[in-house]
Amino acid sequence: MSGWEQQISRALQVFSLDSLRKKILVLAVGAALLPSLLTAIIYYTQSQRAVTARLTADLNGASMQAARTLDLWLKERVLELRVFASSYEVSENVGRRDNSRLSGYLASIQRRIGEYQALAVLDPTGRTLASTGPLPDARELPPNWLERVTLNDAVIGPGRRDSDTLASAVVAVPVTDARSAVLGSLTAVVDLRRGTSLIRDIPLASLIRVSLVTRDGEFRLGAGHQVPTSGDPIYPPARLLHLLPAATPAELPRDSMPLEGPIEIEGSDGTRFLARATPVPGTPWLVVADIPADEAYSQMDRLRLVTLWLIAGILLVVSALAYSVGLFIVRPLDRLIEGASKVAGGDLAVDLPVTTGGEVGALTRVFNTMVTRLREGRQELEELSITDQLTGLYNRRHLEHALATECERARRHGHPVSLLLLDIDHFKRYNDTHGHLAGDAVLRQVGQLLRETVRAGDCAARYGGEEFVVILPNTGVDGAVDLAERLRDRLRSEDFDGGAVTASVGVTQSPSKGFTPESLVAAADEALYRAKREGRDRVRR
Ligand code: GH3
Ligand code: MG
Ligand code: MG
Repeated sequence: MSGWEQQISRALQVFSLDSLRKKILVLAVGAALLPSLLTAIIYYTQSQRAVTARLTADLNGASMQAARTLDLWLKERVLELRVFASSYEVSENVGRRDNSRLSGYLASIQRRIGEYQALAVLDPTGRTLASTGPLPDARELPPNWLERVTLNDAVIGPGRRDSDTLASAVVAVPVTDARSAVLGSLTAVVDLRRGTSLIRDIPLASLIRVSLVTRDGEFRLGAGHQVPTSGDPIYPPARLLHLLPAATPAELPRDSMPLEGPIEIEGSDGTRFLARATPVPGTPWLVVADIPADEAYSQMDRLRLVTLWLIAGILLVVSALAYSVGLFIVRPLDRLIEGASKVAGGDLAVDLPVTTGGEVGALTRVFNTMVTRLREGRQELEELSITDQLTGLYNRRHLEHALATECERARRHGHPVSLLLLDIDHFKRYNDTHGHLAGDAVLRQVGQLLRETVRAGDCAARYGGEEFVVILPNTGVDGAVDLAERLRDRLRSEDFDGGAVTASVGVTQSPSKGFTPESLVAAADEALYRAKREGRDRVRR
């Protein structure tokens, strides 16, 4: 094993990832987790960017539209006042000692147009020349108002408050003569509720609310689908201030474009808002559109939850799949291990089912072939160990084993067992005359003869030298003698290279009890001895 291989396997051991099944599981889970997490992160950030962009656009749209609506309405008022201010009735009567005609004109305007709560004409120093009812206070106008009016500019004051609503504002326009020389100002207290009610009619995306606030952060008016009431969380001045550029009210941008800057602010009760502010040109007012951040991003939260569940689901399915695949791969391997340990223990009767293709299937097939070869080899060895090489009959070792078994069986079942002991006559002489190889050929031929003559259940063995034994289970002595005679006959009629060969046979049958393999052999040997003594080529029992 190479160095890095050792290191990896040591690391796997530390995490107890030794088994193939765990490795497959970890690999599969890792392979599924990485791309799905990456995809989820990319998808999530993209969605968040899209949601933020949409929210910003919605808020910008709402605040801009509201600011422009109010701006337009105010411009109408200024235009209207400029028309009245430049009328003959005003310019001709400014500076006269009697202001009754001027007062009458102002009263008639107020009667005709409901938006004006009070009207006054002031001289260039700010002194009131004529008015209708409560006087618009010069202090309700910006400090430099007189200067601006003198420069022929219209001026809008910061507004009057009625409970928490921006109720009215003072508007001043210059009064000029035919040569455009400024003679004084026409000042009006304008009822703002008419203008702000237009804001309420603007269609807004859900949850967005629109508020009108002043430079000092004081809440003045709410509008929108959700009009903030006094109990609603609103922005404390300090929190709102960072929405605004560090400038005096008069220096607010003159166009109604949303202000740059952070869009997240915190309400007085800790509620987080996403907000955009647009100034109302020519006034110190801002229109703020906001939406509660939690609700705005609730879609994202849902998306995150769904994504997490989805990933969890993917992991679960992948784990189950990996586990099954692991089982599928490991089960045949487990069987191989089990089979191999059986073979190692000496059991060669193993044949594994080939349930899979690929490497493991091939390995199982090779294993089965290997075990078959081993089994055949062992069988061959076993056969060799009980076979006599020259004659192909059983050898003496197996004979002794078989005889003991048959004697035991005969004793148990009360069956007789018979034994034939066959010895070739004058075989020494045959060897001496025709040579040892010719003698071997005789022995081989006798073996062949025995194999052909005995029954399937009988056991023919070479006892040693030129002596042979046949065990005849479940056979009486008569049957055994018959077989012996047949063998003797066939041997005599057999054609040998060195002329006729005869044999003497001793036959014995097991007594009803009290016998051993040795006693049977001894009895057969005794009969054989008699056959030899009585002239050979005969059968004796
Ligand atoms: P008897 O009729 O009394 O049995 O005489 P015999 O010559 O057959 O008896 P003995 O037991 O004296 O001789 C057996 C001979 O068998 C001796 C040996 O040379 C021969 N012999 C034993 N084993 C083999 C063998 O494997 N091959 C050959 N060719 N001869 C063998
Ligand atoms: Mg002999
Ligand atoms: Mg002999």
